[in-house]
Amino acid sequence: MTETVKFDSLGLAPELLKALTDSGYTIPTPIQAQAIPLALAGGDLMAGAQTGTGKTAAFALPLLQKLLPLANNGASPAKHPVRALILTPTRELAIQVEESVKAYAKHTPLRSLVVYGGVDIRTQTPHLKTGVEVLVATPGRLLDHIEQKTVQLNQVQILVLDEADRMLDMGFMPDLKRILALLPKQRQNLMFSATFSNDIKKLADDFLTNPQLIEVARSNATNDNVTQKVYPVAQSDKEALLIQLLKNSDSKQVLIFTKTKITASRLSRSLARVGIAADAIHGDKTQQERIKALDAFKAGTATVLVATDVAARGLDIDQLPMVINYEIPSAPEDYVHRIGRTGRAGALGVAISFVSPEEDKYLVEIEKLIKRQISKEIIEIDRSAARGRTHASTSKPSHTQANSTAANQDASATKRIPAKKRSTDPWFDKPYEAAVAQQQVADKPRISNKAPVAALLGGLVSNK
Ligand code: AMP
Repeated sequence: MTETVKFDSLGLAPELLKALTDSGYTIPTPIQAQAIPLALAGGDLMAGAQTGTGKTAAFALPLLQKLLPLANNGASPAKHPVRALILTPTRELAIQVEESVKAYAKHTPLRSLVVYGGVDIRTQTPHLKTGVEVLVATPGRLLDHIEQKTVQLNQVQILVLDEADRMLDMGFMPDLKRILALLPKQRQNLMFSATFSNDIKKLADDFLTNPQLIEVARSNATNDNVTQKVYPVAQSDKEALLIQLLKNSDSKQVLIFTKTKITASRLSRSLARVGIAADAIHGDKTQQERIKALDAFKAGTATVLVATDVAARGLDIDQLPMVINYEIPSAPEDYVHRIGRTGRAGALGVAISFVSPEEDKYLVEIEKLIKRQISKEIIEIDRSAARGRTHASTSKPSHTQANSTAANQDASATKRIPAKKRSTDPWFDKPYEAAVAQQQVADKPRISNKAPVAALLGGLVSNK
């Protein structure tokens, strides 16, 4: 049924439809087709949608439509009180959500603004003071503004909690409670979450009133457009394997996840040393550095972005072809979020996870959560790949290239160099076939990102 729905049959105003046409959207995605009429009807909503399903428009469009009767060009800030509040767990997601809101509201006088931490609060205050109808915020910075009395929330009619599961994971519950206590009791609540844990259900019980429940994909499901693979590898061999993989890959953009900020920094430096344009994005970087790294990655000047979970949450990068889990997450839901960075908007993607024997237990949890086994591929590590472009004797040898046998190897040689400590696990002794598998993925016809896309986004709806 959802496939035949058109945007103009959802009761959206011409100004919004025009903006959708400008954005190249023709057909609503399943989450949009379901959420928009329900949200327009005015009730609370609890929506389960994985990343990349078009969930931002699913809440932003009805929200804008409901505010349209109040839209005005008045100069006085009093004419533009905050009427819709969208809370997101991370700065990057907040920025992206507000960009979308702005794009959808471009033919209306409605104003939007994003506020997030990590930048000087004084730069945000003047914009807030001019008045905005739609405020996108991370909880901590919003509380700072509340304390400084630079924002009033007593006219909020609509609250959106985006990626609510992640907000709980990140410990935002106390902040959320403080914020929610300041909002008018009479309001509409729209909650979006990629996963439905018991904690999320409790949050919904606490804050939503008789919510309609919609789900476009099985809870905790991963996107069918993404080919998932596990490469079993010793922790100490991961860097060499990564370099080998990146050097053999045609992917123009690869997002790599690490567990810690230190690993993210170290890895991006190691990659840069061997001539791979890489940057890192994590919580210790300033907001400006994070935005710069993200922009370079989006523009293609950096082919590799190494990120921690928090920093990468909610990133929407068009056509990201490959995600690599350098370390798999201990929280299985994070796996779903991470690989949701690829295969977006109907495109095909590859998600590769490096799994050391110590991480096997996390893999078991992930497979349980996504209710499928991820196929394993064995890779023999070619240590010559881990050497610098120029084999620079000046560059500091990393632990993966310290082996003198490896250092003497001709880079053009095809013969494999044995790992320093060969694994006794037979997995590691089988031939490497990954390049073939990757090629097959690359050879599949790519699906265009626009019109037919919508039917595919969240397309698990019918049969899962
Ligand atoms: P989201 O899940 O909101 O992050 O959206 C994922 C991507 O899908 C974004 O790049 C959107 O611009 C795109 N998108 C959202 N809705 C549609 C639609 N109806 N048709 C085509 N692309 C869409």
